[in-house]
Amino acid sequence: MRVRNRRGTALRRWMVGALALLILVPAGAAGQSSRLCPSDTKLRNTNVRKGETLTRVAQRVKVAPEDLKKWNRLRTDQVRAGQNLRYCVPVWKPTSKGSCNKGSLEGGRHLDPDGDHQGVGFVVSPTRKALFGTRETVSHIKDCCAKYRRKFPKGAPINIGDLSAKDGGHLGNHVSHQSGRDVDMGYLTNPPQRRGYFSHAATRKNLDVPKQWYLVSCLLDKPDTMYIFLSMTVHAALKEYVAKTPALKRKYWHHFQRGTVLRPDTEHLTHLHVRFRCPKGDKHCRD
Ligand SMILES: [Zn+2]
Repeated sequence: MRVRNRRGTALRRWMVGALALLILVPAGAAGQSSRLCPSDTKLRNTNVRKGETLTRVAQRVKVAPEDLKKWNRLRTDQVRAGQNLRYCVPVWKPTSKGSCNKGSLEGGRHLDPDGDHQGVGFVVSPTRKALFGTRETVSHIKDCCAKYRRKFPKGAPINIGDLSAKDGGHLGNHVSHQSGRDVDMGYLTNPPQRRGYFSHAATRKNLDVPKQWYLVSCLLDKPDTMYIFLSMTVHAALKEYVAKTPALKRKYWHHFQRGTVLRPDTEHLTHLHVRFRCPKGDKHCRD
């Protein structure tokens, strides 16, 4: 009894110490931003330029002078050239407006911001411009492609087609792809499609079923995935594959019923088309 007590005390003391460390460590430079700025904003710095007043600095960095004063604990409006001032700016979040068939995108995120036409597990054609989506769309694509790459280190990269144009709206010969929540992804076949393009249709003969299923199941596992449009052939091949494996059947069989996420059609012969739900809290978005 006594031993347990003593041990308990030591453990408690250790936990208090660890907790104190946890609280103390981030209170340094990195912690300042979280304490100073509200959660949907981030910390920035600027130096007062020659001849600038507090009001002019506030105008330049697009914040209210009173806020600038508060964030820097200034008692007066006096600032001097070279003085470092901290301020908070809103975190940039893309907005999906309207529906996928009649909508737009504001501040869309680019799938390939460094412009090298590739990422982990995926490639895009060098001529493709419509690579903008919501934060969720871009992160789900990247996540599933990266998982695919980890699972199949030697598999051909996934060809990513159109997402949405920079500001969304009507895009080429698509009906949808207007509000940053749609993406086309080339089928995984043997031999693979031409790098960056949807060069041939998937057939029962050329479809790489395990790879294709892996990608589709990654998308199905995401609650944000609203629809996956795919060809009848690919749908049937995946259904057969899942039916053969009891563990998969238990988890995924319901997705092969009518009217669920998987939508077989006669159009998507070379690629599947994924639509994600409206991002949470996006008031302008319509599912
Ligand atoms: Zn599409």
